[in-house]
Amino acid sequence: MNQPIDYLVIGSGIAGLSFAALMAKHGKKVCVIEAHEFPGGFGHTFEMARKYKFNAQLHYVWNCGEGETVNLVLKKLGLDKSVTFERYDPDGFDHMYMPGYHLKIPSSSEELISRLSNLFPDSTDQFKAFVNTVNQVSIGLGNASFPIKVATAFTQFKPITTALKYLRYTLQDVFDEFKLPLPAQTLLASQWPDFLLPPDQLSFYAWVMLFTGYQRGAYYPTKHFEDVMDSMVEVIRENGGEILYNHEVHNILTTGKRVYGVTGKNLLTDASFALTGETIICNMDPKKAAHIIGWDKFSKSLQKKLDYDYSPSNYMAYVVVKDLDLQKYGFGKWNVFHTGHQDINTAFYQMYKENDYSNPSFAITTPSQLTTHRGDCPEGWQIVEFLTVANYDYWRALKNRDEKTYKKEKMNILWSIVDQVEKHYIPDFRKYMVFKMTGSPTTNERYCWCPEGNSYGSNLSPKNIGIGRLTHESSLKNFYFCNASSGYAGFAGTFWTGAALYQRLSGDKVFI
Ligand SMILES: Cc1cc2nc3c(=O)[nH]c(=O)nc-3n(C[C@H](O)[C@H](O)[C@H](O)COP(=O)(O)OP(=O)(O)OC[C@H]3O[C@@H](n4cnc5c(N)ncnc54)[C@H](O)[C@@H]3O)c2cc1C
Repeated sequence: MNQPIDYLVIGSGIAGLSFAALMAKHGKKVCVIEAHEFPGGFGHTFEMARKYKFNAQLHYVWNCGEGETVNLVLKKLGLDKSVTFERYDPDGFDHMYMPGYHLKIPSSSEELISRLSNLFPDSTDQFKAFVNTVNQVSIGLGNASFPIKVATAFTQFKPITTALKYLRYTLQDVFDEFKLPLPAQTLLASQWPDFLLPPDQLSFYAWVMLFTGYQRGAYYPTKHFEDVMDSMVEVIRENGGEILYNHEVHNILTTGKRVYGVTGKNLLTDASFALTGETIICNMDPKKAAHIIGWDKFSKSLQKKLDYDYSPSNYMAYVVVKDLDLQKYGFGKWNVFHTGHQDINTAFYQMYKENDYSNPSFAITTPSQLTTHRGDCPEGWQIVEFLTVANYDYWRALKNRDEKTYKKEKMNILWSIVDQVEKHYIPDFRKYMVFKMTGSPTTNERYCWCPEGNSYGSNLSPKNIGIGRLTHESSLKNFYFCNASSGYAGFAGTFWTGAALYQRLSGDKVFI
């Protein structure tokens, strides 16, 4: 690379990739340094047995409709015609199952109230009040799209004052305020794997943003998530940029308060590398980067913002089935969320604190039902993914202590999940399984380079959401944070995070 680098981007997660692609397209010299062999961070796709492709973590996404965040970024990149999305079923994009109850979450709030009222006829008024508050808060947060703003305070006085009231509330606080019946709470919060937090810790804002975002439209990419990441890499390359895989940054170079480069190791050759750039963009975890640079170099207010707790880690099972008619068993353009408990908080802590998966709660995603594009496995075979929470400390200690038991326990969780699947959804599911592999918190740490195997960066609790949250600003010169913890988490959130930093540094508008 002869030309001086304008933007050196550490990490090819979605925020880093979208920033780099936009800047490359804008005519700047961009170099992305990625420790893994694939682009996308949590959103990377990997191949197994030369046949099956799994996305590491992503399941479904929002804000991808015409004129919404992702669409606007793709338009700017000239990708909106080739990178398209399939909509989940608006009549029920999430199907929630718990003992004795089943609820399909629809796009329409009226329909949601009606379905809840049918299940719990004595609580209709509570549901109306709760859903009305959710919608008010959503409007108060700028229709739950990015960025959260209060700029329209004069025209949206009621929604904004309502939103402000709930700034420090957990989802549980709001359930309690409206006295929702416990099973209704469980059904409404069954998508907890989307946050890896139970209602009694989860920020109400975070829940409202995701819930109403998916109500507006839940999507899956027509050509899978791999195509989204590859398309952005292609834009970087076509515009003279570079992406260096298997390059792990160990040191971030500073002179005084200015950041000017990085050093590290090529993980394939073991060779050291050093690169300098006019501006350094940090897509890796900001707290980890701050420790590498030196905590004292950051201003006191930045140190406070950087001192966040990490979100809990997770467990994934990647399964391939053959000759199974999933539709026959009630699968379609939706996710299935299963819980065997009356109370999500109890279900969560049983797994997270006690490592007890005897009655697991989990999410099921079936990409074959979401798009007809079969780039992920051969015709007639289908991918089924299971997601739940897992405790980093437990799995790290177990792996360090006894690799064999670690592997066995990982597999035991899958069998426990499969027991539930066979009992409630697909009898003989095992019979159709032709491939299986599992990922624990240490897998996350190893392949996504996320400290403590965290799932969403900073924990999605009220403390970390809203006022006082870390932004792009680093208090150092020529150094900007650009990832989920310094913007918004999720596919759409990190698209916004990358594009907003691009807007700021280039002066070129992506969002109106
Ligand atoms: C289990 C799970 C399920 C999820 N499901 C969904 C979903 O369905 N929908 C949704 O919208 N969101 C989902 N998310 C959230 C979403 O995946 C993330 O918020 C988003 O992908 C984070 O992107 P990011 O840009 O912050 O970077 P990250 O994905 O954190 O990427 C950072 C990149 O930096 C690289 N890196 C780190 N350190 C170094 C280093 N020292 N040197 C070089 N490279 C380095 C990493 O390898 C990585 O590629 C899920 C997350 C998890 C964990």
